[in-house]
Amino acid sequence: MLEEITSNQIAAGEVIERPASVVKELVENALDADASTITIEIRAGGKEYIRVVDNGRGIPSADVPLAFERHGTSKIRNAEDLFHILTLGFRGEALPSIAAVSELEMATKIEDEKAGTLITFAGGTRTRLERVGAPVGTSVTVRNLFYNTPARYKFLNQPASERRYIYDIAGRIALANPKVRIRLVSDGEEVLLTPGDGKLETVMWNIYGAQIGENLIPVLRKSNYFTVSGLICRPEIHRGNRQAQTFIVNGRVIDSTLLASALEKGYQTMLPRRRFPIAVVCVNIDPTQIDVNVHPAKREVRFSDNSEIYKQVMLAVRRALSSSDPFAPWTLESAASPAEEAAAQEDGPADQARFPLTPNQTGYKEPAGTHVPHIEQSRANYITRQTSLERTQTAAEADSNRFSDQTLKITAPESAKAPNKKTDAEESENRIAHPKEVPAWRVIGQYHQTYILVDAGAELWLIDQHVAHERVLYERFQKGLLDKNIEAQAFLIPRRFELGIASLALLEEWSPKLKELGFEVEQFGQKDCLVRTVPYELSQIGASELKDLILGIIGTDDDEDYRHEALVLMCCKGAVKAGERLTNQVMDQLLRDLFATNNPYTCPHGRPVIVRLWINDIHRKFGRL
Ligand code: ADP
Ligand code: MG
Repeated sequence: MLEEITSNQIAAGEVIERPASVVKELVENALDADASTITIEIRAGGKEYIRVVDNGRGIPSADVPLAFERHGTSKIRNAEDLFHILTLGFRGEALPSIAAVSELEMATKIEDEKAGTLITFAGGTRTRLERVGAPVGTSVTVRNLFYNTPARYKFLNQPASERRYIYDIAGRIALANPKVRIRLVSDGEEVLLTPGDGKLETVMWNIYGAQIGENLIPVLRKSNYFTVSGLICRPEIHRGNRQAQTFIVNGRVIDSTLLASALEKGYQTMLPRRRFPIAVVCVNIDPTQIDVNVHPAKREVRFSDNSEIYKQVMLAVRRALSSSDPFAPWTLESAASPAEEAAAQEDGPADQARFPLTPNQTGYKEPAGTHVPHIEQSRANYITRQTSLERTQTAAEADSNRFSDQTLKITAPESAKAPNKKTDAEESENRIAHPKEVPAWRVIGQYHQTYILVDAGAELWLIDQHVAHERVLYERFQKGLLDKNIEAQAFLIPRRFELGIASLALLEEWSPKLKELGFEVEQFGQKDCLVRTVPYELSQIGASELKDLILGIIGTDDDEDYRHEALVLMCCKGAVKAGERLTNQVMDQLLRDLFATNNPYTCPHGRPVIVRLWINDIHRKFGRL
């Protein structure tokens, strides 16, 4: 008996790390018993008291003691069953482990029996076993966790911090089980209640609030033997860590760097650096294709085909993002009150957060760090469509017309080339006209020769002209690359510059790739190279910038992603700079192009393109609200 208690205590070390692990195991048991309502009650972060009550099947009285024996699982019978696991539990370790390190009480009853069973343990020793009156279902109460293993108890954190772990796991389990009504009460206060309406979206709302709830995009992708589903948040809302990501495989909440990286890859250039998406990603897969028995607390699973899972999740996310309407109005009405905002702005100790999964309710915080522009010599880069060949005006005329109407017609030359296809311009007209997308907007003017000010009704937008143009160029180049047709422009006189021996050595290998990107570059003499063509959009590029660009491209790692890196460099060089004066018409065209892109929110480096100020915030500043 003693030996069994000891081995259970050892097992508890693996399965039960903290109060949150108890909650997880008990709630999983309730789910395995097909409960439709689960109530979790905790005190002092679960250190003093945890009770989980369910309305599931219950345990037949004769089996109750067995449930507390090691490997007393009712869920698998033989090794073969391990490969068909559809239940959350299967190791038969949780109950004996918890009983070994706490004071535990279980009351349970099945439908077919008149009376229920009460069983109690103290430090692993059974103290009571009797018949009691009880409703159908199971209730487990765990008091004074680790009271008999002081070394373990010492490792627990303050209640506030243990509470956060519990909120976190309860929230994630709720996300994995939208059909189940889950209620969490902490020190007498209800902190989570999901209605069990079967909708993941509802649970997201409950946990994350309106700001995120209203900006969700559904994900769905079916492949041969698995389905990827879930909800992801629009790219303009993001987090500084991965806390708001939940991965669910066959109903089981797991940690998965594979799924996290697939998710992030799906967002690719849409998020600022070191910012992370908010998402719930569910993979439902033939259970024979995964191994769930790789982690004592069952927090990980192994897939038989990682690369396929990675690819499908990434594609599912990418499709969802690109098909979603990029300008759905975000929730202005439900934005927080100033008091809530103030509270949320103070990045107080995380302990105090009521619900750790809950964002600051104001939600959208602009990433800080907008740079002060360095004023460069004005170059009408946005007008690079106008090539030297097309210029018939004198330099002076061209200069005075630089920002005039005439420069506009050259921004969408594709229309002329593909008359039977819908033109870019039409396409963008249509998108903008769509009332659900970009609201009616009007350029007010340019500020600091860097930001475009836009009146968008209930919002004032500040748009960084450089990054906006980068985004436009990025998508154009990307499309050109996909169609294997980046339009190149030949220089009248090829540009020549010194490359250096090291880079020249790389040139031979790189020249086909450069060509694909629109650059025809060849070696010239011992140290120099000749650039014959550049992409059309870059035809105005200066000599030293061109050199930097070529060196930059051949200096990128020659892996799959070199194209992305190259495009980013090209956009940066090709885009209108901060400090360039633009006319309203040019700005207007730039914005039309921007809103026609898949992601008008961030530049290819991940910097924000648009900062949106809400009219009510402005009113408040003036004391009108
Ligand atoms: P496992 O979940 O791995 O089977 P546990 O130690 O968690 O192991 O539980 C042991 C057994 O007790 C389960 O297999 C199940 O038969 C029974 N059991 C535990 N909790 C419940 C519950 N809430 N409702 C019905 N049966 C339960
Ligand atoms: Mg279990």
